[in-house]
Amino acid sequence: MTTYSTLILNIINSSDDHLTAEQIYLKLKETSSKIVLATVYNNLNTLYESKLIRKVIIEGSPDRYDKNIIRHDHLVCKQCGRLSDIVLKDLTVNLEEEIGEAILSYDLKVSYICPSCRQGKVSK
Ligand SMILES: [Zn+2]
Ligand SMILES: [Zn+2]
Repeated sequence: MTTYSTLILNIINSSDDHLTAEQIYLKLKETSSKIVLATVYNNLNTLYESKLIRKVIIEGSPDRYDKNIIRHDHLVCKQCGRLSDIVLKDLTVNLEEEIGEAILSYDLKVSYICPSCRQGKVSK
């Protein structure tokens, strides 16, 4: 692993959030002023391909990177875009029964309005 990918992995692992490449870039810039966003993307792809992190794709929003690679699903706030982990039982067997085919994987995103948005707080 390159130094940058180690640093990026550390940032992801020490965050409780699902960070975007941009957020990781800004954190990394605090210590590595020469870093460019393209390098962050390249390293994120390598980490993702090495299955060290998970990528969560959300329509209309930048991809998020997740330290938790164990299968889990996500709650997505419609308003602020915040992601929370949810652990549901593995639905693979149920889905396969419904579809009548073997599936490779599934990715469940449940949208809701998060508690702080519901209370009208500005959350960013
Ligand atoms: Zn929210
Ligand atoms: Zn997650």
